[in-house]
Amino acid sequence: MNFFISGAAGFLGAGLANHLAREGHDVRGLDDLSTGDPQSLAPDVHFTRGDVNDRPKLWTLLQEVDCVYHLAARVSVPESLLYPREYNAVNVGGTVSLMEAMRDVGVRRVVLVSSGAIYGDQGEQPLRETMTPNPRSPYAVSKLAAEFYVKTIGALWGIETVSLRVFNAYGPGQHLPPSHPPVVPYFLRQALRGGSLVVHGDGAQTRDYVYVDDVISALVAAATAPNLNGLVINVGSGRETSVRELAEAALSATGSRAEALYSPKVSGGVSRMRADISLAAQKLGYKPSISLEDGLRLTLQRDARLKGIS
Ligand code: NAD
Repeated sequence: MNFFISGAAGFLGAGLANHLAREGHDVRGLDDLSTGDPQSLAPDVHFTRGDVNDRPKLWTLLQEVDCVYHLAARVSVPESLLYPREYNAVNVGGTVSLMEAMRDVGVRRVVLVSSGAIYGDQGEQPLRETMTPNPRSPYAVSKLAAEFYVKTIGALWGIETVSLRVFNAYGPGQHLPPSHPPVVPYFLRQALRGGSLVVHGDGAQTRDYVYVDDVISALVAAATAPNLNGLVINVGSGRETSVRELAEAALSATGSRAEALYSPKVSGGVSRMRADISLAAQKLGYKPSISLEDGLRLTLQRDARLKGIS
């Protein structure tokens, strides 16, 4: 098949692009390299540097494409509190630009990578697709708006759509910006360096951490599985881990004697998150197979930047 991936040089995009290329598919990737690294892509992925709002570029790249994966986005919840306009322009505007270009060229299917963040705080766990979203940050609002745009204009223009609400993905190659680092590589790096693992709040807040290979298995299935049109589907591990437990697991995986340090909670945080993954099992044959302990071990083994620290 011919695939196009926006955000292809990012953490999930590169993992997906390399996987599809290994399987023998034709893969074209676009990324503006605002955070992505083209070095993470295999040589047989056709990479173009560019903005997801650049429709003339999209018209060229989308020719003969069977399925689009849309991952290009600004991805930090805390950063989105500082720059909501930027998050709206890229995450919402970029989605509409890509849908317009898909309509113009005649692409049949799009898989949007959305986020579990759209649920916000709910009265109960696990989080099911039927719950009313309660976004708590500009990032979460932007992903929810992207879901609605994709579904609504997809139906109007005859484009098949599916949105995968990915929970906290982690694994080798995750971008580690100094200002707002994702918690898993941050904890691993701090543990390896012997620095403090700073936990915001009391560490009781929970997340559903899912290893990158499991996410990619769901993304791959979403390109061809039948009867997905218009659906949103959770992709997580189905397990709930507190930040305190994650810090302990990172210390244990690295054999580090570093310590967790508790600081005041930052705004935009959600207290509990665990995905109900039964719809993904039913529709995508999805079955996550990597435990948190194994996933942390694999991340340490495979992430060259973390290896450089130890
Ligand atoms: P990432 O930052 O590594 O990837 C995003 C990529 O998009 C980057 O390579 C960046 O350079 C690129 N990009 C940003 N703005 C762009 C633009 N205007 N034009 C073209 N490219 C642009 O983050 P990721 O974790 O790989 O996230 C990929 C997608 O998955 C995002 O849509 C994110 O919202 C979603 N997601 C990720 C997670 C997670 O835990 N990693 C969870 C839920 C959803």
